[in-house]
Amino acid sequence: MNTLKRLIPICLSFTVFSVSANTHCDPVTPACLTEQYTMSVLWYQNSAEARAAFYQGYQLGQMRLEQALKEKSTKPLAVVLDLDETVLDDSPHQAWLIKNHKFLLDGWDEWVDMAAAEAVPGAKAFLEFADKQGVSLFYLSDRKQSQFDVTLKNLQKIGLPQADKAHLLLKTPEMKSKQGRRDRLEEHYNVVLYFGDNLADFLDSKGKSQEERNRMMEEARAEFGKRFILFPNPMYGDWYGGLIQNNFTQDHNRIYRLRMDKLRPFESANAP
Ligand SMILES: [Mg+2]
Repeated sequence: MNTLKRLIPICLSFTVFSVSANTHCDPVTPACLTEQYTMSVLWYQNSAEARAAFYQGYQLGQMRLEQALKEKSTKPLAVVLDLDETVLDDSPHQAWLIKNHKFLLDGWDEWVDMAAAEAVPGAKAFLEFADKQGVSLFYLSDRKQSQFDVTLKNLQKIGLPQADKAHLLLKTPEMKSKQGRRDRLEEHYNVVLYFGDNLADFLDSKGKSQEERNRMMEEARAEFGKRFILFPNPMYGDWYGGLIQNNFTQDHNRIYRLRMDKLRPFESANAP
């Protein structure tokens, strides 16, 4: 018995050591930073709540569109949608990063080239409804021009309406900001709905600090659920850039520390 008692702490310490080594967080490595996405990717890929959030957004969008169709408009109606995590589900790329101990945009081009993303729940039904009503659809994404053909192929593979060259607007050297492309569209269309998973899908918030993003959102809050339909994306986005001063390539230890510093725990009376 005494021998067994002596062995238990030794076995436990080996267990703790091996778990620590497998998490890639001691020391902090890019793989460790990626592994911290695990719960958000699990939620996104597996929860009924994530699916429901997409149905909720697209159903709300359809109600808003039905209202807009009854109102007079001097310009033709249009709906503008971001692609990644708004129409297309790219979470397999995030899962691949975790499983393969990779970081940030590793493997992204390969994933996009596969044109294998599926539509998020509710997107196709909404888009078909809008298309039947004669509403113009614009897929507005910051994907690269070199990814234009494969992106179009992906949209067509899913069978989305108006998936053609005229309705896919990617970033160009002359028109990098989404705001510029939105302004251009609004010259010709009455854009009744914007769909996105990132504040920059609605407002000119690219590169702004966390505080500035929150301020811009508060100023525009009346538009959310009205003309702006936002989907949750806990996996990545400008929200995260805001936390780390939009410097994704800084020292890994500093990124880890910035993440930890942004957590707001309660003050426990039983804290050690
Ligand atoms: Mg997106």
